[in-house]
Amino acid sequence: MSSIEIRDSKDYRDSKEIIDDKETRDVKGRYRKDLQVANVQRTNEKLKDEDACNRKKDVLKNHSPEELVSIFDNLGIKKFRAKQVYGWVMKNISDFDEMNNIPKTLRETLKDKFDIGNLKVLVKRSSKVDSSSKYLFELMDGETVESVAMEYEDRLTVCVSSQVGCKMGCSFCASTIGGLIRNLEPWEILDQVLKIQYDLNKRVSNIVMMGSGEPLDNYDNVLKFLKLANHKDGLNIGYRHFTISTCGVVPKIYKLADEKIPINLALSLHSPFDEERKDIMPIARAYSIEENITACKYFVSVTNRRVTFEYSLIDGVNSSDKHAEALARLLRGILCHVNIIPINSVKESGYKRPSKGYIYRFKDRLTKLGINATIRESMGSDIEGACGQLRRSMTNK
Ligand code: SF4
Repeated sequence: MSSIEIRDSKDYRDSKEIIDDKETRDVKGRYRKDLQVANVQRTNEKLKDEDACNRKKDVLKNHSPEELVSIFDNLGIKKFRAKQVYGWVMKNISDFDEMNNIPKTLRETLKDKFDIGNLKVLVKRSSKVDSSSKYLFELMDGETVESVAMEYEDRLTVCVSSQVGCKMGCSFCASTIGGLIRNLEPWEILDQVLKIQYDLNKRVSNIVMMGSGEPLDNYDNVLKFLKLANHKDGLNIGYRHFTISTCGVVPKIYKLADEKIPINLALSLHSPFDEERKDIMPIARAYSIEENITACKYFVSVTNRRVTFEYSLIDGVNSSDKHAEALARLLRGILCHVNIIPINSVKESGYKRPSKGYIYRFKDRLTKLGINATIRESMGSDIEGACGQLRRSMTNK
């Protein structure tokens, strides 16, 4: 046990009551001195930490080429270098010395002022039952996030995380079990896409924000990520190929609509009944289904994009005919589509996947009532493909 621990321990507090001779007074004096020294040390360490935080390097991948031009200009670096450096960064380099058309002295300046911004692949698992792969990435501060790549013949869709953990508390979701740790920076979302594109040697065509985190709870960083990934000199992914999924942060749905960016919106609905939805998703206590539907209609009217309603089908919870009929009534007349997602069971929540018969019955009921619906199998059931499962299984080890 260290001296600091002794000072803070109950043993020491108790012993103070019986100390009255010279020797013990000396001991008390030494403890007091120790305490002062420890306090000074703590303060110094704190200052050092704060200093380190203040000196945190800017990350190149967090910037568009236009922003880099202006940053380089302010540093007295020729503007054309910004375009060269941006080109290297988007080539997924890991070291400044790979920039072989940049003079050594400038490379040293860049090393001093910037980080390139690279996530590390900690785990990659490829499914044996479908064409998905799951990645667990380590961030620069040691936190981890996961992403899923889904390969089809003509496209590669990547599902990215927007936060480490999540505070939304949806009861069927593994990402929320440890709460929200922190928001991801734009480059940390971008690099999930870049790393997968390079690993699979295939151009990413579609991005869905359905990994860990509520994207609209990290609004500014997500918006910047969209702009970075859309940039013609970067990944150049058209806005129509992005989907943002929200659990229903209603004010942010209006804000997103007003950005007038033609991306796709997906709303996690999961029940047509407010009371039930409140049990599954705590955010439903803040915003009713009606408020969500009105916001979605606004989004459609401004962007002219169809809204997808995500419906995680949970055995014995939201999978009955009564649910299908109420859902059809709710969505009638909206430019929309329902994605029925039979859940991958999450051990901690105790939820189970419905039988195949129930899944198809639910879909047929919706279709007969005039609602466009498809069953979307959660990919990667053999690689802990559901949001947050891999990260939890790794951090629980
Ligand atoms: S489903 Fe999405 S919003 Fe809900 S807890 Fe999980 S990550 Fe968060």
